[in-house]
Amino acid sequence: MNATQGALLLGVAGLLALALWLGRRASAERAATGLPQGEIIAADMGAWEEGQPLHAPRYGLVGKPDYLLRVGRHVIPVEVKPSRRATTPYEADVMQLGAYALLVEEDLGARPPYGLLRYREHTFRLPNDDALRRAVLATLAAMRRDLAAPPDGDGPPRSHDEPTRCRFCGHRAHCTKSLVD
Ligand code: SF4
Repeated sequence: MNATQGALLLGVAGLLALALWLGRRASAERAATGLPQGEIIAADMGAWEEGQPLHAPRYGLVGKPDYLLRVGRHVIPVEVKPSRRATTPYEADVMQLGAYALLVEEDLGARPPYGLLRYREHTFRLPNDDALRRAVLATLAAMRRDLAAPPDGDGPPRSHDEPTRCRFCGHRAHCTKSLVD
């Protein structure tokens, strides 16, 4: 083997090692998130900032779930809340996942049968059934009503009584409902 062939062989070996390392790292990242098997076709977490937001113009909705997984013929939205430790999903998170399921249906043309909500220690498989779809549509309609005609003429009502949320909220500077100065 001459020097050129040797260098080429080393280069190929290096590429194979790199591919192996990248594959292992991807598996570790997936294990860390608790994601099930399936091809990740879009992601909005950490190093995976690719994929465009999904649009549902007739509902005035735009958004991007943390992941979209292709599982068989379905595209499954995945939302990851790594700091939550609850054993049952928060209602707000269920609605958010339902909104992502609606976006997948409207933008990609196929209704996902379920969505995945990952907390720190649990992954919830939430059926995208008619009840969830109705609740999401009702919430969107209520939001549109509030935005068009605020009940007290001063913006939509605050949905919580948690000063901490206000303290770290990016809208606090111009929000008239903030619980902290
Ligand atoms: S500052 Fe306003 S928008 Fe932000 S969390 Fe508080 S009430 Fe909501």
